[in-house]
Amino acid sequence: MERDNQYIIPLDGLEEREYSFTFKADDAFFQSYESGEIKGGEVDVKVTLLKKKTSMLLNFDLSGTVKLTCDRCLELYEQPIAISDEILVNYGDETNFDTNSDAVTLSRDANSIDVSSFIYEYSHFALPIAHYHPDDADGNPTCNAKMIELIDKYKVEETEKTEDAIDPRWEALRELKNNNN
Ligand SMILES: [Zn+2]
Repeated sequence: MERDNQYIIPLDGLEEREYSFTFKADDAFFQSYESGEIKGGEVDVKVTLLKKKTSMLLNFDLSGTVKLTCDRCLELYEQPIAISDEILVNYGDETNFDTNSDAVTLSRDANSIDVSSFIYEYSHFALPIAHYHPDDADGNPTCNAKMIELIDKYKVEETEKTEDAIDPRWEALRELKNNNN
């Protein structure tokens, strides 16, 4: 799958020392992934690459905001994130970033490394467990009040529907009981 990718670090000619790169993960970046909780954002990414003889150490520093769906009112809100983490890249027979360990493998033949999947994953690691609009200075939620009203109304209707649905069964039971008597 070929796509225009601006999250590539060229490796040709790198000496055994430290290099710095900066990237921006924006709406287009996050929206290029179909799944994922992040719907957009504006995240500054600083990558420090320490080149060694048989490996590389990549340090990622992410800070900015991402767009998440609020669990309370279902509208998008901006969540600040900040995370710093590093990953060891070993050279091997073939590239394999599919790992949950602290190290991944890059093909010995590779003349560049695509860091987009790391940026994407670290952005998700940085998310809080609960996704809510922040409170304002007075401690009031900044959620869309109209949406919450609608959601509450829908919830009440759902509950009523459920109760209605139970009624015929009770009715049926009552009839059964009456017939047996
Ligand atoms: Zn909200």
